[in-house]
Amino acid sequence: LLIYLDGNFVPKSEAKVSVYDHGFLYGDGVFEGIRAYNGRVFKLKEHVDRLYDSAKAIAMDIPLTKEEMTEIILETLRKNNLKDAYIRPIVSRGIGDLGLDPRKCEKPCVVVIAQGWGAMYGDLYEVGLTGVSVCIRRNAPDALSPNIKSLNYLNNILAKIEANEKGGDEAIFLDQNGFVCEGSGDNIFIVKNDQVLTPNTVSNLKGITRATAIELLDEMGYKTIETNLGLFDLYTADEIFVTGTAAEAAPLTRLDGRLIGTGKPGPLTKKMVEAFEKITQNTGTP
Ligand code: PLP
Repeated sequence: LLIYLDGNFVPKSEAKVSVYDHGFLYGDGVFEGIRAYNGRVFKLKEHVDRLYDSAKAIAMDIPLTKEEMTEIILETLRKNNLKDAYIRPIVSRGIGDLGLDPRKCEKPCVVVIAQGWGAMYGDLYEVGLTGVSVCIRRNAPDALSPNIKSLNYLNNILAKIEANEKGGDEAIFLDQNGFVCEGSGDNIFIVKNDQVLTPNTVSNLKGITRATAIELLDEMGYKTIETNLGLFDLYTADEIFVTGTAAEAAPLTRLDGRLIGTGKPGPLTKKMVEAFEKITQNTGTP
């Protein structure tokens, strides 16, 4: 496996960064998660744009143009002969000293890792995921915006630990006001009385899969309503599904010990899973 590291493609065993890199010392950096299906990269422009937006939000200049970054991502796939893959571009603040001041870091460090990948949840697409609402709250947008895909994912990791502990497949985050936000790595949709609802993106990551799902739902004749949702709305929903680059579109059929709807993936969720599979197989950057 060859990994892009600061201008070179190096074997996995040689892909190492300094212990003085502020990505390591402070989680100071940004990343993306991208998928390739069938030799084509899904929503590549959207992911590259979001990577640069995340960098902008933390006042970091990525030392490459978007075109160069795009080409490096594609080249990482080519070099590794990957057709179905998960791609992880990472840009950290770079090497500094032990102090946190980013002015000490001369140049951001750029890494692109790609590896073979299939669907994340295996059999669970048929049965549905078990969700657990967690005590840890999503970063408040006025503190660290959930829209920055930063290397500091501790918030999400704590949520995942809590969900693991309670036997769930995915954590459901609430915000400081008790409104439902998102999962630890995916966005949430509910279906109730033939209406589709999803939390707005102030306290959530603006998921690229979420945007795709909204478009697909639109084509199916459903206008997604972006609104505040509470746990009550989730418990009493007819269907729930989550969307994410790694999770794709996946049913959530249990939450905090309650069955969602019948406890089986609902009809619209199934249509969504199928439609998402179709679009990922048929579009993307070669
Ligand atoms: N929410 C969080 C916290 C995530 O990390 C991700 C994954 O990227 C998502 C949602 C889903 O976003 P996307 O569909 O762009 O992958």
